[in-house]
Amino acid sequence: MIVILKENPDSVRLSALESWLTGLGLEIHHLQGERQHVLGLVGDTSRVDMDQIAALGIVEEVKRIQEPYKAASRKFHPEDTVFELSNGLKIGGGHFALIAGPCSVESEAQICGVAEAVKGAGANILRGGAFKPRTSPYTFQGLREEGIRLLLEAKHATGLPVVTEIMDLSELPLFREVDIIQVGARNMQNFELLHALGHAEKPILLKRGLTSTYQELLLSAEHIMAAGNPRVILCERGVRTFETYTRNTLDLTAVPVLHQLSHLPVIVDPSHATGRSWLVPQMAVAAASTGADGMIIEVHNDPEHALSDGSQAITPEAFAALVPKVQGVRELLGFGR
Ligand code: PEP
Ligand code: MN
Repeated sequence: MIVILKENPDSVRLSALESWLTGLGLEIHHLQGERQHVLGLVGDTSRVDMDQIAALGIVEEVKRIQEPYKAASRKFHPEDTVFELSNGLKIGGGHFALIAGPCSVESEAQICGVAEAVKGAGANILRGGAFKPRTSPYTFQGLREEGIRLLLEAKHATGLPVVTEIMDLSELPLFREVDIIQVGARNMQNFELLHALGHAEKPILLKRGLTSTYQELLLSAEHIMAAGNPRVILCERGVRTFETYTRNTLDLTAVPVLHQLSHLPVIVDPSHATGRSWLVPQMAVAAASTGADGMIIEVHNDPEHALSDGSQAITPEAFAALVPKVQGVRELLGFGR
């Protein structure tokens, strides 16, 4: 971090600033120009609040050189993070998490039927929403507790680990048997929720916010990690742009960039990114070509009658046709694990 001081800074205030910074464990290097005095701060600046320094009367400008996150940063953890679910399935480091299932759990027949079908096609994790963040309060809001119960029934019937979204901390006791807890795009910056999930002994699937930068996504991961939970999966699910033809704009650049900046697994959600089922297979194949550590795809046995997100759901048959293409691309490009 670099602190550019105003001309002729008050010496008492400057030494107060210096002792505060050294008290934070930082080394200070001075660069004294003809008119301007610059402080170069060396050490772990991830915990330094830039705004606090910038607010001081003797400071002209503060510039960050190092990223403001540490636990999530590849600089401090060069190896890919790899962790195991309770059934031994590995996530991260190129192991491919193929997550599939309906947007919402609707009934026992629906979730168990889709679970069997996606498992047969090669999925290794089942998704299904019980607590649904819906834009309109008049649409289906999810089966809530009953939805979790049915999802766990499908887990026990198929042996597939499950991922489902939490919207509020009060729901946490219901997630005891859930394998991965999803934090949806709308909650990516719900910091209270992130802190609490830092104490949960489960992996967290963290979806990128609708208008969030890579740095904001990584700082949200940092909130979970700094609170004690190192098992975070990042998910690119499209961001809001000027384009309205698709539900969002799938930003596949996110995968190599997040892999470069962080050691955490990165997966892609082509369903919420496009909002249109016919685009999902092509974009899933494109996502596979980026070296993503997995994908999460909405699959419904009867998309036309789905209670949520039917227009982006693909059928179990379409999913079964897609899986070998995704695997083929991964093998071709040498990602196969
Ligand atoms: C979902 O996965 O069903 C969902 C609501 O996703 P997102 O938070 O990405 O919109
Ligand atoms: Mn959905």
